[in-house]
Amino acid sequence: MGRAIVLATPVFLALIALEYAWGRRTGRNTYGLSDAVSSIALGIMSQYTAAFTRLLRVGVYAAAASSLSLVPAEAAAAFWTSPLGWVLALVFYDFCYYWLHRAGHESAIFWAAHVVHHQSRHYNLSTALRQTSSGALLGWVFYLPMAVAGVPSQVFAIVALVDLLYQFWVHTEHVGKLGWFDRWFVSPSNHRVHHAIQDGYLDRNYGGVLVVWDRLFGTFVEEGERCTYGTRKPLDSWDPVWANVEVYAGIVRDAWHARDWRDRARVVFGRPGWRPADVAARFPVATLDPARPGRFDPEATPTARALAIACFVVALGATTAFLWEADTLPVAVRAIGVVALTALLWLSGALLQGRLPAMLGAAGLAAVGATAGAALAAAQAGGLDWATLGRACKPLVLGLAAAWAWRRWRASDAADARAHALLLAALVASLAGDVALMVSGGFLPGLVAFLFAHVAYVMLFARGVGAMPSRSAAFAVAVYGLAMLAVLWPHLPAGLRGPVAAYVAVISAMGAQAIGRALVQRDAASVATAAGALLFVASDTVLALDRFVAPVPLAPFWILSTYFTAQLLIARHALPDLPARRAASLPVHVAG
Ligand SMILES: [Zn+2]
Ligand SMILES: [Zn+2]
Repeated sequence: MGRAIVLATPVFLALIALEYAWGRRTGRNTYGLSDAVSSIALGIMSQYTAAFTRLLRVGVYAAAASSLSLVPAEAAAAFWTSPLGWVLALVFYDFCYYWLHRAGHESAIFWAAHVVHHQSRHYNLSTALRQTSSGALLGWVFYLPMAVAGVPSQVFAIVALVDLLYQFWVHTEHVGKLGWFDRWFVSPSNHRVHHAIQDGYLDRNYGGVLVVWDRLFGTFVEEGERCTYGTRKPLDSWDPVWANVEVYAGIVRDAWHARDWRDRARVVFGRPGWRPADVAARFPVATLDPARPGRFDPEATPTARALAIACFVVALGATTAFLWEADTLPVAVRAIGVVALTALLWLSGALLQGRLPAMLGAAGLAAVGATAGAALAAAQAGGLDWATLGRACKPLVLGLAAAWAWRRWRASDAADARAHALLLAALVASLAGDVALMVSGGFLPGLVAFLFAHVAYVMLFARGVGAMPSRSAAFAVAVYGLAMLAVLWPHLPAGLRGPVAAYVAVISAMGAQAIGRALVQRDAASVATAAGALLFVASDTVLALDRFVAPVPLAPFWILSTYFTAQLLIARHALPDLPARRAASLPVHVAG
């Protein structure tokens, strides 16, 4: 199934290009670059996460088919693989799909999984690829009747694929009404209605291949006024992870604050968007007026956009290779793949949205290469010389972050110059530490370099709040540091005991200072910085345990993923953004 999607991908992309070219030619372009990239990214994500959960899903259906089937296995196989059997299986699947899809719009927890497909405010072939990554969690329940009827797993998998592939072509505004076809089959016209948010159009036309189900069960409506697309609560983000969790997060928040269990059940299983009145008053949510939809098109510099596209293309290529081999890959390799690909797509979205300066985005891209390279080499994955890729990328991460900090230092006001210099010093010392740890015999010099980095961070985090503003944070981190040292002590060579003890003291001070600062300032940036500091502590804990106590499985993955996330979080958030002096000269993309 993964391979079928890989083979279909060039066709999808060619048709998307064709639709775009047609739209430009006829003066009715239905695409926005960032929107299309975001939609395709969500499609990519849904495929590699499906490859990860495939064993589970196929296993659930196969187990259900073998234990629930009312038909003897041989008779079932003979019937469902006959020509009539295949057609009936597709119709049967389409019927189950109708009810799953209907639940996806009429029950909050199912909407949480399905919402991804509807978040785009555009309607074009790229919207078709925009699919959820959490459909496997609950969706299988709706296909149990097929297992009861003895439909074999292979037949089930193939008709599921056919049903999905069919729906691609209907996502276009360039095909008008098709007469009788619109009343029997799902078509561009009736599926446009499904994606529209006007009152008369909401919760209509759920069919996958046949729209007959909607006419039977009273959910059919014909296309009349021009459709406005999207969701009533707009996502307005190019973050693929947030796109997948936004509704779940809302459900958890509302259920948490609901007064009783009846309200809680209604938040989870009731109509999407239903909220207890007091919770809705406390946590208001913006909704969209279908009459004045607008667009979501945040600014990003041309460099950031180019880099976003680069991350996207790398993720697309890597996913293709990943899906081709997914069935034979060890679980560890698949897990590393899922994390690395998600990081790439997240970077792409953050750059498109202007949330990440281009140079830090480039550092993030290098961090993915360095982490995935080292981790895949440790997991003995084939395909590429992963170790060399990892080594080539590693110094780039802090190198690019330091270059970014240097530019900001040069552009900063005299009053902030010292803070910028401290950040730069910490990043340069970390770069030196990274390089030292890559050469044999570099452990002690590396330790000293990071010791300097942490001293610079402590001084940076003390600005404006003083040394150790929270005693309880300092106490908690000190206890952690002492415990860590106690575990390490018997395993440390005598010559390293002093330096390691000094290092543990300094990194603990860094963590305590960052937490204390977040507790005083209580803003998102200082919390993000503190999270970075804690990840730094976690990274060094794994490194020390792996090196001195016992080998940690996939150690490079845990150490580098936490370390680079820590450094980039601190680099991005430790200092306030510079006033947008240079931004004024950038091209402005007006929403409208
Ligand atoms: Zn839908
Ligand atoms: Zn659709």
